Amino acid sequence: MDRSINFLEEHVIFRETFRRFIAREAADHYSSWESAGMVPREIWKKFGDSGYLVPWADETYGGNGADFLYSVIIAEEIARSGFGSLFIAMHNDIVAPYIASYGTEEQKMRWLPRCTSGDAILAVAMTEPETGSDLASMRTRAVKNGDSWVLNGQKTFISNGLISDIIVVAAKTGTGDTPLHKSMSLFVVERDAPGFSRNGPIKKIGLHAQDTAELFFDDCIIPSENLLGMEGMGFIYLMQKLQQERLVCAMGAQAAAERCLEITLDYVKERSAFGKKLSRFQNTQFVLAETAAEIAVGRSFTDDLIKNHMAGKDVTQETSMAKLWVCEMLKRVTDRCLQLFGGYGYCAEYPISRFYADARIQTIYAGTSEIMKLIISKGLGL
Ligand SMILES: Cc1cc2nc3c(=O)[nH]c(=O)nc-3n(C[C@H](O)[C@H](O)[C@H](O)COP(=O)(O)OP(=O)(O)OC[C@H]3O[C@@H](n4cnc5c(N)ncnc54)[C@H](O)[C@@H]3O)c2cc1C
Repeated sequence: MDRSINFLEEHVIFRETFRRFIAREAADHYSSWESAGMVPREIWKKFGDSGYLVPWADETYGGNGADFLYSVIIAEEIARSGFGSLFIAMHNDIVAPYIASYGTEEQKMRWLPRCTSGDAILAVAMTEPETGSDLASMRTRAVKNGDSWVLNGQKTFISNGLISDIIVVAAKTGTGDTPLHKSMSLFVVERDAPGFSRNGPIKKIGLHAQDTAELFFDDCIIPSENLLGMEGMGFIYLMQKLQQERLVCAMGAQAAAERCLEITLDYVKERSAFGKKLSRFQNTQFVLAETAAEIAVGRSFTDDLIKNHMAGKDVTQETSMAKLWVCEMLKRVTDRCLQLFGGYGYCAEYPISRFYADARIQTIYAGTSEIMKLIISKGLGL
């Protein structure tokens, strides 16, 4: 279906070039990355050298000042490729914006050029073993001590957890009587911070090459110049960035669903049973017709939000709806498509199996579907 977004010729060329780059750099190696449980550092450097990391950053920080459509293309093409463990979109459009928006000039000069070049990989650490959805209950605490902060606590499920060099960590800084929304601050923890250690990768049912790890802060010393933004503003900063975070999730899920439909259409036209192609069974036609209709709805909604987001509109509610609906839709789509592959759909050799396994996390991370429903219902005044 035609897209309502006005991609310029330069965007179209960028998409083709990027698609070829992914195929060249990832296709032959991805299985070995899955076995290793992580994507190697060299590939991040290749992304950086080719201008694919934080492309929107100002040239002063090594970026290209690219518009958001380049981020859209990168997120969509990685999702389409099925190499979803490449957590480039998180680095580019979820974590780097914290530094760009809330960092001082000195902090931006210190960190962003390394993020655009691929010399530093980003992560964001909010979730803890005892609390994920209920962020306000986090226990990790930072206490000021002269010119430093002393951080104690533990984070879990952190994407890029082992490989990351720069980690935006949320911690409590308020005292007992500080209002909840003013009791959290964001800190940048760097790779070699004293008292910082990690464990992983955590074994998962999908995203096998995405390193997900536990982080430990044991009297971890953070220089005061690594406080990001203002003390006590962490919770508000996190809320301010949710619109883009949820949109990025929906964009990836939408592109993955479209690719699943494409590969399934190819498959059912090739495979025969009972003397005819699978595509000739009415069940196949109806299942794929329903799938195509849902994908078309998701596409219109997602593109509309991309345009509104680029126009600077507040679509926080709508992006929560997109995160909810498109990610749930992807789960349905991967399940139905895998079914049409029969036993082959269950085999690792067939990309549909990877799409299926990788899709399962989409309704959990970056706010579960239930949390999206809570937010949407609050917006309805309930
Ligand atoms: C692969 C992977 C990568 C991740 N990457 C990161 C990362 O980079 N950084 C990071 O900080 N975190 C990350 N996470 C953590 C992720 O964001 C959390 O797992 C998620 O927010 C849910 O938190 P939880 O696991 O503690 O589940 P819980 O909060 O314990 O929720 C369990 C269940 O209860 C439901 N529930 C909770 N509260 C309510 C409620 N009020 N009403 C109704 N239902 C409710 C939830 O929807 C869910 O179904 C990642 C997780 C995974 C698995």
